[in-house]
Amino acid sequence: MTKTETLFYNFNLFDGRTSENETDAWFVVDENGQLKDRGTGHHQNFENEVNLGGRYVMPGFINVHCHITSHPDKFDGGFNVSETEAAVFGYQSLQQLLKSGVTFVRELGTSYDVDIKLKRLMKAGQLNHVPELQPSGRAFSMTGGHGDAPHAAFLVDSPDEMRKSVRQGLKNGAEVIKMMATGGVMTPGDFMADPQLSVEEMRTGVVEAHHKGRRAAAHAEGNPGIQNALDAGVDSIEHGFYVNEQEARQMVQQGTYLTPTLVAELVIPKYGHGVLPEWEIKKAADALDDTYKNLSKAFELGVKFTCGTDAGTPFNGFDKTPAEFELLTKLGMTPAQAYQCSSLNSAELCQINEDHGTLEVGKFADFQVLDADPLQDPKAVQQGDKEVYLHGHREF
Ligand SMILES: [Zn+2]
Repeated sequence: MTKTETLFYNFNLFDGRTSENETDAWFVVDENGQLKDRGTGHHQNFENEVNLGGRYVMPGFINVHCHITSHPDKFDGGFNVSETEAAVFGYQSLQQLLKSGVTFVRELGTSYDVDIKLKRLMKAGQLNHVPELQPSGRAFSMTGGHGDAPHAAFLVDSPDEMRKSVRQGLKNGAEVIKMMATGGVMTPGDFMADPQLSVEEMRTGVVEAHHKGRRAAAHAEGNPGIQNALDAGVDSIEHGFYVNEQEARQMVQQGTYLTPTLVAELVIPKYGHGVLPEWEIKKAADALDDTYKNLSKAFELGVKFTCGTDAGTPFNGFDKTPAEFELLTKLGMTPAQAYQCSSLNSAELCQINEDHGTLEVGKFADFQVLDADPLQDPKAVQQGDKEVYLHGHREF
C-alpha cells in the first residue's frame, strides 16, 4: 500500500468487455495510472480513496477517425489557415474530445502534420487535458482526389509514388496511414461512387505501412472503391456507407474493421440548409437511408465495427463522439455492443488493446463517470458534465 495508489469505490462498473454492470464495484489504480486490482463489495482501505457515490463507470472512448485541424464551422474544411492557426485549433480540438469522454484519438488526416508535432509536445508533458493520440499526418490521395488541399495530403499517382510518399509519411512520424479510395461528400464534383486510388497504389501503401508495423485505413464510401480497398488489404474501411454483402463477407474473412462515422453523415442534412451548398446536403441526405440498411446487414454478417466520428467535418464538432453510440444501436446493436465498438474493436484496430480499451487489471484507468446507466440508455453517455479520468487522474 503506497501513497500513490488510489482506491475508487461505490460505483456500477461496465468494463467494456462484458454486457452487464457489476454493482458495488471498486478498483485500485497504481502510480502508473494502471488498474492494479478490481472487485466488488468488501475492499481494503487506502490513504487515497474516491467515493463515486453509486454512479456509473465505463471506459473512456477511443475515437478512431478524427480531423483535429479541420474546422466544423468553416466549410472549406479549414484548409485555408496557417500552420499556427491549425496547431492551436488542433490542441483545442483534443481538449474538447477529452472533455466529451474520448481518452484516445486516432487521427486520420491532419494539415501540416500538426498531430505528429502535437504528439511530440504531449510526450514532453507540454500539453494539458488532452487524450492520447495516434497521429496520421497528411492523408494520401490522387491528384484531384478527395482531400486534395494544400498541406493536407500527399498526392500520389502511381504505386512508386505511393511507396515513396508513405515511407516519407512514416519517417515524419505517422503512426497510421490514411488513403482515399473514393470521392466523398465534401468536395464539389467528387462523388462517393468515384473510385480514386487504384488497388495497386493502395496495396503498396498497405505493404509499406505493415512493414513498419502500422495500420492502413481507407476512406471508402461507395463502390467500386470499397471493393478496391479490400482487395488492397487495408485494415479498416472508413465510412463504408455502400458496403454490400459480398464485401461484408470479405471483411469478416480478412478481419477488416468498419468505421461507420454515422454522426458525420447525420449532421449535414440536419443542420446544413441555408449554410452549405444544396448539392452537398443532397449527397448526404440521399445516402442516409441506404447507409443504415447496408451497415445493419454488415453488422449482422459479423463485420467488426469501430467507433469513429469524422470530427471536423461540417457541423461535426469534437464533442459529438457520445452521440455516435445511439446511432450504432440503430444498426441493431445493444448499447453494450455499441460501446464495445470502442472498448474492444477500436483498441484492437489501433493495436493498443494490451493496455487500453477495457477496464481490466493491467490496463490504463481511462474512464468516465456518469449519472445514468449507459447500458439502459445510450443517451446516458451524452451527459455534458460527466467526469473524465485519464490514467486515474481526473481531467474534467
Ligand atoms: Zn474523415
